[in-house]
Amino acid sequence: MQKYDAIIVGAGPAGGVCARELSAAGRKVLLVEKAKDFFANDFSSGGSTLETLKTFDLPKTVVGAFCRQVKISASDASHLWRSPDPIAIVFDFRKLRTFLADAVMKNGSDLFFSRSYQDHETRGDVLRVSLKKPGSRIIKRFETKVLIDATGSERKVLSGGAPRHRDAIVGTGIEFLVEVPEDVYQSHAHCLSFFIGQKWMPQGYAWIFPMEANRLKVGVGRNYPNEQVVPHQRSFRFYLDRLMDTCLQTDDITILDQHGKTLSYTSHQRDHYFNDNVIAIGDAVSTVNPLTFEGIRHAMMSGRVAALQVNDFLDNKIVHFQAYKAAMRRLSGFKWIVSEQLTKKIYREADDQKVSLMLSALKCFSMEALLDLVFYYRLKSAFRFIATYTALRVQNSFKRFG
Ligand SMILES: Cc1cc2nc3c(=O)[nH]c(=O)nc-3n(C[C@H](O)[C@H](O)[C@H](O)COP(=O)(O)OP(=O)(O)OC[C@H]3O[C@@H](n4cnc5c(N)ncnc54)[C@H](O)[C@@H]3O)c2cc1C
Repeated sequence: MQKYDAIIVGAGPAGGVCARELSAAGRKVLLVEKAKDFFANDFSSGGSTLETLKTFDLPKTVVGAFCRQVKISASDASHLWRSPDPIAIVFDFRKLRTFLADAVMKNGSDLFFSRSYQDHETRGDVLRVSLKKPGSRIIKRFETKVLIDATGSERKVLSGGAPRHRDAIVGTGIEFLVEVPEDVYQSHAHCLSFFIGQKWMPQGYAWIFPMEANRLKVGVGRNYPNEQVVPHQRSFRFYLDRLMDTCLQTDDITILDQHGKTLSYTSHQRDHYFNDNVIAIGDAVSTVNPLTFEGIRHAMMSGRVAALQVNDFLDNKIVHFQAYKAAMRRLSGFKWIVSEQLTKKIYREADDQKVSLMLSALKCFSMEALLDLVFYYRLKSAFRFIATYTALRVQNSFKRFG
């Protein structure tokens, strides 16, 4: 039986970074992925901050496009924020995960595709992990000192599945990768475009992100915060078609790939973080932000924080992972709770007039302040947004009555 210091189940951004950092520290790691390759589950839009590249020492080759504009459109108006220099990136999600997995192998560790985690049992200080090839009955067992759940929202290893609906904010996103003529591409080439309001996607938002030349990512996503569901009669496809018809304005569109996934975020991040020598990272512990469903860099950060703790555990410097949970809470805890509250407020708003007022409130923000709000979740910006929006609503009510 092959023996490892750590087996990491799931080769997403969280698992990839964790495996890279542990293998770089000389640990023998097995990174396991149930998909047959990184094309098969290329589901993420990949929007992130520019500094993510530096923070995680990633090359420009994993980037689909650099962006220096942000545009937000409501049903009846839009606003464009511009910067002379790039402020954000769109990852090529496949290339990002390939880069991380290659680094793991270069560090002398192992990567298995097409292997699905089945279960594990404790044998003294070690764990025996069963992996299965999809479609086959053969189960192979491997031994490890630490087992890491990086299965994303599926939470297969530590929690045995996604949280109950009423304890979660669930988001479903569907996206097309499309090829368009050069002039259409150029009008979206450097811009992260977001669309809010009933016209674009009730209780959610839509987006157009640039990728490499002549390719765009066109997507719609919907949130279900607890039972507060705004009724919508149309399919996701309806909103995707409307977005393409309105914003791309060409019949010359080739759909190269369609993908999507449902993510679940546990309210107040009440997930299981560890149990003896099994720990969970990334979306398996709700690192994705519940307001924007932006999760790549947060998943990677949890992989890094976990790798430090696992190294200490393997060196017998710590005997449990309580400090990991505390470190994760320090990273996002309170900010994510504020985001939850905003999610419930914004996404259950069925009234387009209020959504337009939200856009008017955002227009008062500079590019820097906008990024503070939507990418850095700075509380000061969130409170400023709430205050401006509330003032505009009061002003509007006065206008109506008098
Ligand atoms: C449509 C959509 C668009 C998004 N856009 C953005 C965006 O623009 N920017 C951003 O930052 N975030 C975005 N996100 C969120 C982001 O992709 C996730 O938060 C991030 O991928 C989480 O990383 P992870 O490693 O924790 O989990 P995942 O990326 O979900 O990786 C988990 C891996 O585990 C594997 N796995 C699951 N079960 C098993 C098993 N039993 N055995 C073996 N392997 C298993 C899965 O196949 C998967 O590869 C988007 C999400 C969706 C759905």
